[in-house]
Amino acid sequence: MINQDTIDTLRKVEVGARRLFIDGVHADAQSGTSLPVISPIDGRSFATIADGGAADVDRAVASARKIFERGSWSRSAPAFRKTVLTKFAELVEKHADELTVLGVRDNGTEIALAYKAEPLSAAGTIRYYAEAIDKVYGEIAPTADNVLGLIHREPLGVVGVIVPWNFPLMIGAWKIAPALAAGNVIVVKPPEIASLTLLRLAELGAEAGLPDGVFNVVTGRGSVAGEALGLHMDVDAIAFTGSGPVGRLLLEYSARSNLKRVFLELGGKSPNIVFADAVDLKQAAVVSANGIFRNSGQVCVAGSRLLVQASIYDRFMDELVKATTKLKVGDPLDLASDIGAVSSAEQLDKNLGFVTRAAEEGARLVTGGERILIETGGSYMAPAIFENVTGEMQLAREEVFGPVLGVMRFETEEEAVRLANSTVYGLASAVWTANLSTAHRMVRAINAGVVHVNTYGGADITVPLGGVKQSGFGRDKSLHAIDKYTDLKTAWIALG
Ligand code: NAD
Repeated sequence: MINQDTIDTLRKVEVGARRLFIDGVHADAQSGTSLPVISPIDGRSFATIADGGAADVDRAVASARKIFERGSWSRSAPAFRKTVLTKFAELVEKHADELTVLGVRDNGTEIALAYKAEPLSAAGTIRYYAEAIDKVYGEIAPTADNVLGLIHREPLGVVGVIVPWNFPLMIGAWKIAPALAAGNVIVVKPPEIASLTLLRLAELGAEAGLPDGVFNVVTGRGSVAGEALGLHMDVDAIAFTGSGPVGRLLLEYSARSNLKRVFLELGGKSPNIVFADAVDLKQAAVVSANGIFRNSGQVCVAGSRLLVQASIYDRFMDELVKATTKLKVGDPLDLASDIGAVSSAEQLDKNLGFVTRAAEEGARLVTGGERILIETGGSYMAPAIFENVTGEMQLAREEVFGPVLGVMRFETEEEAVRLANSTVYGLASAVWTANLSTAHRMVRAINAGVVHVNTYGGADITVPLGGVKQSGFGRDKSLHAIDKYTDLKTAWIALG
């Protein structure tokens, strides 16, 4: 684990002007312009990133295509790719302290969480796909004796990776690692408010031995660089995590350009359901508070709708409020903080807008909901809990992506299922019960990519992640993710 002295040294490191990373070298954006990097810790600019545009995306895609066609990565032996990616994972681990502090200065995640969830998780993901890739076999089809049907797996080509700011390294690695392991080449468009760690990741990839052009990064605005990548005629696929509206745009770009495939991991409004027979209500309350409020609620799988059975409602709410008010919001670079900063002033305003609207619509604010630590100049918010939330309210329907929890009460299992499935989303969920049959019925009944039972938010690289309904399609993580980055090609050989 990182220690406070190291953090305090690294937080002072000058970052300066960061440039694009194309064909293995740093490059200015063709426009010559840059964007400020504002830290949500204190509201101050501490670096700049290049404001990449369509011309830069063109350069990055051309460099990626060139190396893809040359085959020195795409057609190399999987064992070679494994060696390079294993070295890459080691370098990410070696630079974990640096990457963590850089990322926290950029997006405000509390450092203990960032350390595990960002570099360490990314390194683990890269290692997992490195180790997997030389164990993926082709197939021989069960045809008649006079033919041989061979099924090969081939990389797609140039994959565009577009990710959000909440966990850019972790989520980025979920796409970058299987794509590279399968022999693809990539152009990454980091989130404009948290680009620094992905730029550093590309440098470490080069140091590990990725050939020039295999891993390119074009920073800049989503509506400019992201759009150019989505519309590019020579990009074969886009792997995206982010909001629903941008996901829709990417599908549209694909239809308007070359029908590139698009994989979407979008938002959620995940139900966390506590039955009266939950084994340990106190423990359930502590985990539930963490399940919505860690990283200031900026977690796609956050349990943002809490459904509590009526007979234990008051008892559970007491425990929940106790657990929530114990969480210390503060400087994300202080190991003593449980929750860091909201990622930007704009996101904080958006969160506060949800609080105002929830109160206007008749929900009751139980705790929190206000901007705090204003004197720091940063973006901090006290975790908010609303009760008396009904299905029609904005808070029950729309993703906040901030520390705002809406609580509803239910009487029966049927009512819990109806409420749980009553949004357009289907990403995550949880059920707390001591009854195995209830748990199994709920796992089947809830329409979501994951149903946690007697916990919230546990995960592992071996387990797929993704949503149903408007939470997107395609799965990150596990061996299944390799399917997204490969095509099946068949050879039909007449044996005579
Ligand atoms: P966002 O959709 O605004 O941005 C995501 C990325 O898309 C950024 O890199 C951005 O620059 C880019 N982008 C923006 N406009 C674009 C355009 N017109 N064309 C192409 N790219 C464009 O999302 P955000 O605010 O960064 O992140 C929050 C959202 O991400 C939430 O909805 C959250 O639920 C979702 N999310 C989902 C998961 C998951 O695994 N399902 C994980 C984390 C976050």
